[in-house]
Amino acid sequence: MQHRVSSSDVDIGSEIRRHLGRQASSGARPEEELERLTKKMLFDMDNPPAEEYFGRCARCGENVVGEGTGCTAMDQVFHVDCFICMTCSTRLRGKPFYAVEKKAYCEPCYVNTLETCNICSKPIMERILRATGKAYHPHCFVCVVCRRSLDGIPFTVDAANHIHCIEDFHKKFAPRCSVCSEPIMPAPGQEETVRIVALDRDFHVQCYRCEDCGCLLSEGDNQGCYPLDGHVLCKTCNTSRIQALSAKATTDL
Ligand SMILES: [Zn+2]
Ligand SMILES: [Zn+2]
Ligand SMILES: [Zn+2]
Ligand SMILES: [Zn+2]
Ligand SMILES: [Zn+2]
Ligand SMILES: [Zn+2]
Repeated sequence: MQHRVSSSDVDIGSEIRRHLGRQASSGARPEEELERLTKKMLFDMDNPPAEEYFGRCARCGENVVGEGTGCTAMDQVFHVDCFICMTCSTRLRGKPFYAVEKKAYCEPCYVNTLETCNICSKPIMERILRATGKAYHPHCFVCVVCRRSLDGIPFTVDAANHIHCIEDFHKKFAPRCSVCSEPIMPAPGQEETVRIVALDRDFHVQCYRCEDCGCLLSEGDNQGCYPLDGHVLCKTCNTSRIQALSAKATTDL
């Protein structure tokens, strides 16, 4: 788990100052307030505030004493000089840092440890989408044809490992019907479709019809194709054409 935390929210020094500020504006009348502040100032000059103890530094183990010397991060107290990047030792107080297993890293060092996206080559800061053994930003994992995000959606890749949505993959690579020229692919939501291959040609079931009478050749009484000179015909129409041809031949004689 990796959490992005900013140490500026939990800085001890600024916490104390904010608290004092609230006390000063306590709804009293201005002259009373001025008197009180003056008294306080004189008091403070004679009695410097005792140094405040914040706890033990999680890094060096020494006490953290005095306003502005310490900070808290990841539920621990640190000296300002001890709260540094594990890799490059940059001081992290007041800067965005990344906590990985209770260790703090500056942003550049953290980014260097990240996997990069197979599409845009930039580091992946948040969720990694893994597909076909590679890492992607979820927003980079899109169909190469329609650019739709395929995060959590079934996809497939071509021989060159290009990502396709199922629909575009079929449109591009599915065999085309020799009658209507459209790809022969499953209907939306379907896994499979039936392709009829006849005379070395591909057909949709609905397009596999007798060229003369238009009856479906894949079902019904007229099942089966009786081709003649490359024409797709039912048995009846095939017989009629042959009879017509022989009649013509007889007449021609
Ligand atoms: Zn320390
Ligand atoms: Zn660093
Ligand atoms: Zn990317
Ligand atoms: Zn697509
Ligand atoms: Zn067709
Ligand atoms: Zn027919």
